[in-house]
Formats: sequence, structure tokens, C-alpha cells
Amino acid sequence: MDMRIGHGFDVHRFKKGNLLRLCGLDIEFDKELDGHSDADVALHALTDALLGALGKGDIGRWFPPSDERWKGADSSIFLKFANEKMYQEGYSISNIDLTIICEQPKINQYSEKMKKWLKKILKLDLDTINIKATTTESLGFTGRKEGIAVLCTVLLVKL
Ligand code: MG
Repeated sequence: MDMRIGHGFDVHRFKKGNLLRLCGLDIEFDKELDGHSDADVALHALTDALLGALGKGDIGRWFPPSDERWKGADSSIFLKFANEKMYQEGYSISNIDLTIICEQPKINQYSEKMKKWLKKILKLDLDTINIKATTTESLGFTGRKEGIAVLCTVLLVKL
């Protein structure tokens, strides 16, 4: 069986705000993530995992932060681009495993909605998508509630 594995990692810092864009959802929160695009750290990690599996570099290569076109951009654009590249290369997603690392907000209450959003965008079965959440036990920048980190692994199979 022809399979490819990819992993992605991303971090964005918090800034003052009231709507947190995370894994496609707009979550009411007292902070938002800072970044050139909409700073959806989960979609960035997933996009990087897909590009990695395909051997196509990383999100910054295709969507450089120096490019004004991506200022405030909806990160689903990046994800859809990587997903399209995957189909062009003749692969499909076997499964996604994504871990969101933060103290707040508590992710578990949103993880089903996030899965459903990814299912819709990527046209996958729900049971191929897993979203986990963890903290770093108050240690480090996520422990100090300064931002969110996301790890993502994807497995691709040849169509
Ligand atoms: Mg990013």
C-alpha cells in the first residue's frame, strides 16, 4: 500500500480580542490569536502536515507572510490548497490526528464542532478525524496562557 505520513506544528500568540478563530470556528473568548492571516493555528498545523506528507515544503513557501494578499486571510484557503495538491498527486486522507495545546479555552467542548467543520471542508468521514486537547501543566508559554500550540499528523493513501 502506498502511504505517506506528514506532521505539522504551529504556534500563535494571543492578543486582546473577543473572538478566537480556531479550527474553523469563531469561539467567544477574551483573546484572539495574532498573525498575518486569521492566525488559525490548527488549520496551519494541518496544512503543514498535508504539505509535509506530499513533500511540498510548508505553508510559508506557498503563502508567505510578506505577501499582502494573505493579510487577514481565511486559513481555510491554505487548507483547501493543500487538499487540492494532495488530490492532484493522487492521494486521499486516511486519517487526521490533531492536538491543541492550551490552558484556555477548554477545547473539549468545541472538538465535535471542529471535527464536523473539517469533515465538511475536506469531505471526509467523521471517524477519520480526531481532535485532542491537552495542557502543559501550567509550564511554558501555553501554561502562561500566552498562546496556543497545535500538533497534527496525517496519513495519506494512494487513490
Ligand atoms: Mg501559523
